[in-house]
Amino acid sequence: MSEPRDAAARRAIAPVICYPDDTLPRLDAGLMARAKDGWKKVSETRVAPRDAACFRARAGQVFRISSVDGPQVGDFNLWNERDFSERFYSGKTRALHGTHVTTGDRLWSSFPGLRPMATIIADSLDWYGIDGFGGSVHDVIGTRCDPYTHNLLTGGQYHHCCHSNLTRAFAAETGLSLTEAEPHIHDVLNVFMCTGFTRDTGQYFMKASPVRPGDHLDFIAEIDVIGALSACPGGDCGAVHSSDEAACHSLLIEVFDCAATQGWQPPDRNGYAGGHGAG
Ligand SMILES: [Zn+2]
Repeated sequence: MSEPRDAAARRAIAPVICYPDDTLPRLDAGLMARAKDGWKKVSETRVAPRDAACFRARAGQVFRISSVDGPQVGDFNLWNERDFSERFYSGKTRALHGTHVTTGDRLWSSFPGLRPMATIIADSLDWYGIDGFGGSVHDVIGTRCDPYTHNLLTGGQYHHCCHSNLTRAFAAETGLSLTEAEPHIHDVLNVFMCTGFTRDTGQYFMKASPVRPGDHLDFIAEIDVIGALSACPGGDCGAVHSSDEAACHSLLIEVFDCAATQGWQPPDRNGYAGGHGAG
């Protein structure tokens, strides 16, 4: 199509932020700093390469996801422990906090709850920022690698994509069958993954993660949760995924009791009264 005469003027209009975040409830910065004072580890879960594992955390506990033996990306799901229909809402978290999350950002739950399920209180990769390609770490833009897209693009059958790993882990944790568990798997937080969109074509890209052993992402659980983490078959996601080609490493999840968050009050569910204009 030929451009209209005022094309340049239309393109020159300045953007506005869709969801200004100055009215978003924030976690107290002092509390985030104190949460680890005298913390005591209560559980530890190792996630094997190309596999996933679940863990549980009570409201007020801190959980840490760590790189332990090599650069590795993790695909992360989160549910309300007593109501699996309330689960992490990647798209709304992106709309509120941006494409990548870090310290102070919250993991919001699906409608109608729309409340913080967990909040990031420390991020050892917060120095990375946004690189020259527009890439950054811990994205909420990717969906999770899955066998359906892999089949669509290649015709192949691969059984250790994050979607399948998360399905197996959630089924094992809850006693659901694989068929019952699969619909509960949802779009992820890509822990440690370095991603962005190409400037020329707008395509989703990945590049080798800057994560190294010892790097970690810490959260306060704001409600009682089940988490599931998959050690992505893409490894550091620097080249390929959805295959056994990449070097792949384990990940560690630790859960801690914290004196500073004793008696934690979970946030209320969203205040919209419902009705949706009917009647
Ligand atoms: Zn993956």
